[in-house]
Amino acid sequence: MEHDRTYRKGMMRRTDRFLAAATVFLATLSGCGTPLKGESVTATELADHVTFLAADDRAGRLTGGPGIREAESYITHQFETDGLLRLPGQTDLRDVFFVYERGFDSRRTQLYLSAGGRTLAARYGANFIPFPFSGSGAWLKEVVFAGYGITAPELEYDDYRGLDVRGKIVLVLRYEPARFHDGRASSKEYTAHAVFTSKLKNALMHGAAGVLFHTDELYSSPTDSFYSTFPRMSLSRFSSDDGWFGGDDAMERSDAPALKISGEAARLLFAAWRRTPAEMEAALANGSTPAGLNLPNAFARIIVRRHEPPVTHRAVNVMGYIPGSDPGQTKPWIIIAAHYDHIGTREGSGDTIYNGADDNASGTAGILELAEAFSRYSPPPRHNLLFVTFSAEEVGLLGSRAFLEKKILSPEKIAFMVNLDMIGRNPDRTIEIICRDQVHATMVERYLASEPIQASVRVEQEDRTFS
Ligand SMILES: [Zn+2]
Repeated sequence: MEHDRTYRKGMMRRTDRFLAAATVFLATLSGCGTPLKGESVTATELADHVTFLAADDRAGRLTGGPGIREAESYITHQFETDGLLRLPGQTDLRDVFFVYERGFDSRRTQLYLSAGGRTLAARYGANFIPFPFSGSGAWLKEVVFAGYGITAPELEYDDYRGLDVRGKIVLVLRYEPARFHDGRASSKEYTAHAVFTSKLKNALMHGAAGVLFHTDELYSSPTDSFYSTFPRMSLSRFSSDDGWFGGDDAMERSDAPALKISGEAARLLFAAWRRTPAEMEAALANGSTPAGLNLPNAFARIIVRRHEPPVTHRAVNVMGYIPGSDPGQTKPWIIIAAHYDHIGTREGSGDTIYNGADDNASGTAGILELAEAFSRYSPPPRHNLLFVTFSAEEVGLLGSRAFLEKKILSPEKIAFMVNLDMIGRNPDRTIEIICRDQVHATMVERYLASEPIQASVRVEQEDRTFS
């Protein structure tokens, strides 16, 4: 999900050592024989793949964008060269599905803020942007500060206590109070209360007309990073009336406006309330409630317009497999996957292309090299090895969802899946391996003990690791 424009050969060399080890590891798990002679995972080949996939001509590999088709053809060609087979029931290594974009009309979508005698005509994409689940329409409303916008009875916490937000727009901070993580392993683990859509639902439940979200991270970030924290498309699933989702923020589209606002926009409101965001956070941490902060009036005029009708985009997962030598097993499939799409380009001048060398040309290159390596194993692995490169990951994990919803393989037949994401760069020089359960983590740790590889292994049981 991060955006990078560079990769370095040195990184690739570490990556190739890792992949070579990964090949042997997967081969061990799958109980297959020894590779044919010759090093098949090489730094040069990895770098070649990344160079092609991340070239400016690929235009950032946006789903439905101008450059992604060449990436799709390139992967297909590599899979064909390695002799990968198409799945039973499939007519091609390419599985086509459709996604729908109902983006916002950036010229007609507007935000004006007025507070403390000052006004701001906020700029779309620079000062504010609607969330994919935002409603469309026009509003002129008072803005009130509602802290983190959280009601958590189990933690005896309620930002809305004593606060009348009926018919008003609430401004809420991102994340949650620091004390919510007391006793948690990592300060970066948040409760479900911190999710944008939880906060929107909570605001609406208290009668609010809509939500403006302010994040501390935006407060100090330049415009570019504000913009890049969003997919600029909203893609629905396979039918246009199927509801909306974007990553973790899955929910039905609401009728209320939900906007993320930049530091400049937030500062105007906070200045009218004679505080900085940091002071606001400190006040909340010290036990003040939003109701107790006694803030003067602020107003927002919000206009949100969507493009009608939705635009349809063709998206393609490329996949092929190497048949196993022991197909009679209860779970005969191992999936090795990576997404190959990225986030396209941004508006403006200068270098406007998000090349996505690390995210995830690197993982895709890894898939291509692993497919080649395994195609040379004799005898073949016990399991069927399915290599998948997903599209439409960056716009809401839609490629892997399409794979499941189209019932391409029944999940009960899958022994496990390995997903390669951003393997081209590791500034801390440690490879991060995230496992879905302790059984796999232990297996990986045991294997790593015999390899000269610096890696950290951790367990994360979230569903989103699928793509
Ligand atoms: Zn990624």
